[in-house]
Amino acid sequence: MRIVLLGAPGSGKGTQAQCLQRDLALPQVSTGDLLRRAVSEGTESGLSAKTAMDAGELVSDDIVLGMIKDRLEASDAASGYVLDGFPRNVAQAKGLDGVLRDLSQQLDAAVLMDVDFEVLMKRLTGRRTCSKTGKLLNIYFSPQSELDACLNAGGELLQREDDNEATISSRLNVYHDQTEPLIEFYCSRNLLKTLDADGEAQDIYTRLLATLGYV
Ligand code: ADP
Repeated sequence: MRIVLLGAPGSGKGTQAQCLQRDLALPQVSTGDLLRRAVSEGTESGLSAKTAMDAGELVSDDIVLGMIKDRLEASDAASGYVLDGFPRNVAQAKGLDGVLRDLSQQLDAAVLMDVDFEVLMKRLTGRRTCSKTGKLLNIYFSPQSELDACLNAGGELLQREDDNEATISSRLNVYHDQTEPLIEFYCSRNLLKTLDADGEAQDIYTRLLATLGYV
């Protein structure tokens, strides 16, 4: 199965992609993660990506499409994957069509993760990672016991560099202007499925599996 997860920053694409990877062995292909890795490795594309990422803007389509092409050609992606955070504009969606054509592959679904604006803001501004375990937490939504467990173990609650208020609002604007047109793009190809992505991650996952026809 080949799936695109569409949705605003904070809509939970990464969390759901990881569940699909765990249960269905569909590799999570996250351009955000690929780009952060390139930045930390200091590669040439990483260096030019960093400025755009810090400003909450999109990294150039050339860089992102090059990464995707390499990733989708890897052997573990031969029988399916979940695209998380890609495509993010119409040019990328058309670029993906070209890559898929070359690989003789087709998408099965584009799932729109639908969440209210206020919830997105809390998810993004409250998002933290435990420095000890790497566990994703949220200062608004995680149980206090889980936040305390990180601190009591000597960990720190780290915030992602682009999760500050200024960058978040620019990421949300970019989503509205450039990514939302993909809803129509995939709707017109009969691939769009809309998922209520508000609530507990586990409940959303149950709905996602149903949307994809797994239960
Ligand atoms: P989020 O969806 O929560 O904003 P991501 O980890 O998906 O987080 O992306 C972080 C940043 O990486 C984006 O703000 C953007 O700068 C860059 N990025 C990720 N995916 C793409 C893409 N497909 N095209 C261009 N830039 C991207």
